[in-house]
Amino acid sequence: MKNIYIKTFGCAQNESDSERVKAFYAEKGDVFVDSWKEADIVIINSCVIRESAENRVYGLIDNIKKFDPKIEIILTGCLVPISKNKIKGVDKMLPIKEISFELEPLRDKTRAALITISSGCNNYCSYCIVPYSRGQEVSRKMEEILKEVDRAMEKGFEEIVLIGQNVNSYGADLNPSKPTPNPSLDKEGRTEMDKLSSVSMGKRRFHSLFPKLLEEVAKKGLKKVSFLSSNPWDFSEELIETIAKYPNVDRLLHLPFQAGDNEILKKMNRGYTRQEYLDLVKRIRKKVPEVRFSTDIIIGFPGEDEAAFEKTVEVCKEVGFEIAYINKYSPRRGTVSATLYQDEILMKEKKRRWKILNRLVNE
Ligand code: SF4
Repeated sequence: MKNIYIKTFGCAQNESDSERVKAFYAEKGDVFVDSWKEADIVIINSCVIRESAENRVYGLIDNIKKFDPKIEIILTGCLVPISKNKIKGVDKMLPIKEISFELEPLRDKTRAALITISSGCNNYCSYCIVPYSRGQEVSRKMEEILKEVDRAMEKGFEEIVLIGQNVNSYGADLNPSKPTPNPSLDKEGRTEMDKLSSVSMGKRRFHSLFPKLLEEVAKKGLKKVSFLSSNPWDFSEELIETIAKYPNVDRLLHLPFQAGDNEILKKMNRGYTRQEYLDLVKRIRKKVPEVRFSTDIIIGFPGEDEAAFEKTVEVCKEVGFEIAYINKYSPRRGTVSATLYQDEILMKEKKRRWKILNRLVNE
């Protein structure tokens, strides 16, 4: 029996993964402690979304080994797949894929049950490392997810969060050789629904199973069902209808827009324009009038001049977000934007823009 401490960096997906890692070690009879100083083994579930997040992982490894070199360090999470060499101080690298979804997660009872529905991403936003660290999107089978929801409900959870890097494309990979037949597919490979719902959000090629999954979960009578992260492309009319139909689907929708200027959106390789994003917000509001929005914004992306920044301000004013997670751009090694563009905007200016948006949306 060993004393284990798990440190989780990063997003809700990592939090959810850590709950399965915990279950994996609990099955072996290990116990969990509240501080790494009391541990025989420290498991670090890493995040690499920003260089600073990665540096925090190295800092922790350093501190632990300086405190007691006998503490074993196991590294898992997003840093493992992109590390070519063994990391100094790490005793074992544990690819998160080795932790089976069949393990019943040891959940944190103080919050909603986090249920991973897919992992990885095929969108390749130019600033993002996720498609490289987590790989291509892989969806879990719907029956498996629904069973996990049932088990969480049996344990008393009344709120569920469905998690994936892009939940809206859930299921597109489950039958890649046979995209869902749609008789109205046009020459450019767009369906009627694409044309209706996301005129040139052209990344949507397969019929997503997410609206169906959301409906099946919502029908179970939970108090609240939320989902994260939900990108503007792949946000179909069918999904809007499903949200409208089930009042227990969270009315606070997280819909990252990142930037308000079309040139910047293009450089970010986001699959929509400002107008398409605003039209989507309008369509959702029409069917779900009580909806509120939260978002992610990157400020200071290369090429974002004052006029481009003003367009981001305008989108914030027009949508009236309830919360915005505002990130100052910092180039992430291994991404397209870090290779192609100079990080030319001074930190002082990024901070100024950050303050303006933060005051506008969050205060
Ligand atoms: S949608 Fe874009 S930002 Fe989100 S995980 Fe995928 S590549 Fe990264």
